[in-house]
Amino acid sequence: MDTAELSPDNAARWDLRGEVPPEVLRSLGRQGVLCAEVPEQYGGPGLSSLDNGALTAEVGEVCGSVRSVMTSQGIAAATLLRFGSDQQRRAYLRPLTGGATAAVAFSEGGAGSDLSAVATEIRATGGGLTVTGSKTWVTGAVYATWIVVFGRWEAGAGIVLVPAEAPGVTVERIADPLGCRAAGHAQVTLDRVRLPADHLLGGAGMPIAMLATSALTYGRVSVAWGCVGIIRACLRAASGHAATRKVAGTPLREHQLVQRHLAELLAAERTATLVCEQASRQCDDRAPEHVSTAVLAKHVAARNAATAAATAVQVLASAGARDGQVVARAYRDAKLMEIIEGSTEICQLLLADRALAVWA
Ligand SMILES: Cc1cc2nc3c(=O)[nH]c(=O)nc-3n(C[C@H](O)[C@H](O)[C@H](O)COP(=O)(O)OP(=O)(O)OC[C@H]3O[C@@H](n4cnc5c(N)ncnc54)[C@H](O)[C@@H]3O)c2cc1C
Repeated sequence: MDTAELSPDNAARWDLRGEVPPEVLRSLGRQGVLCAEVPEQYGGPGLSSLDNGALTAEVGEVCGSVRSVMTSQGIAAATLLRFGSDQQRRAYLRPLTGGATAAVAFSEGGAGSDLSAVATEIRATGGGLTVTGSKTWVTGAVYATWIVVFGRWEAGAGIVLVPAEAPGVTVERIADPLGCRAAGHAQVTLDRVRLPADHLLGGAGMPIAMLATSALTYGRVSVAWGCVGIIRACLRAASGHAATRKVAGTPLREHQLVQRHLAELLAAERTATLVCEQASRQCDDRAPEHVSTAVLAKHVAARNAATAAATAVQVLASAGARDGQVVARAYRDAKLMEIIEGSTEICQLLLADRALAVWA
């Protein structure tokens, strides 16, 4: 795959500018990088979760914003694969591996951690559908061709595929996000958006928790691998700095307290990688516990990334304390990983359920 554009220098520039050049995303999309698990029959590379994880970590080590878009596009594709009819898969998955981009909208002002509070309404009207609501923090929406929207449908929930250019759709960029600044986060308003009936995916009427589970599971594994990438970037930067910087004539690498930082960074990288590998293997095997292991992977990797990034900034000190520095960007990006795809607290609640089910 040609990922030459994905260099740390470009990632720093995109972060400062708040935008990845759309042609870079189109090129990555055409190579199948953005949703690499789409099977070959639908035009994708058909990677396993494990191989896609390695790719996600590679991208995440260089650019958290592109990795974020990759996660969103992967969730959109996984949702289409899970709930789309064969006709919908054929119609929409090929474009997604051909340069089109997709974002996924669950969250609303009043429904973040608690998705049961989603108020966006999808209704059957006049032989078609009407969608009305307001979504927030939709990653990649600024670049998106389609937005996969989760809303209320009859007594349960439904998922619709909304063309970003449909009349009634407004995409408003969220200014100055803390991190992943070029990921194209946006507020998406849906004002009586009219869609053909076949834009509703299967599973309509099921509770939103059931519809969201496969999307969130894919997203958690993807974010966890992205965190592995962040940790590797921090480990590389901190080790390189400690190996070359001298303070009062002594190389930093010879100070035991700095060595402790490097040891903790290595431990963070190893534990996050191992739990991600386990989660991906279980996804590939469709093991019954893969949903819970995805939560564990996301939780461990996100916490490790946030701690590792803070440690790396400490090792580089002033050399890492400016926008444009790898560790400064990692520090901002990593904090957000503790909020998305199930915050640290939501993951802890889910893991506590698992602990009680298995160990009580
Ligand atoms: C960078 C970024 C990208 C995002 N991308 C997307 C996207 O692509 N699509 C999308 O739909 N959404 C996206 N989101 C939204 C994200 O999913 C929500 O921010 C997240 O679910 C948390 O919701 P909230 O921000 O409303 O926090 P709240 O739900 O208000 O929670 C606030 C705090 O309370 C804690 N909390 C909540 N409930 C409990 C509880 N029961 N017990 C203990 N603690 C609790 C939370 O962990 C959190 O720390 C994104 C957000 C960010 C910041």
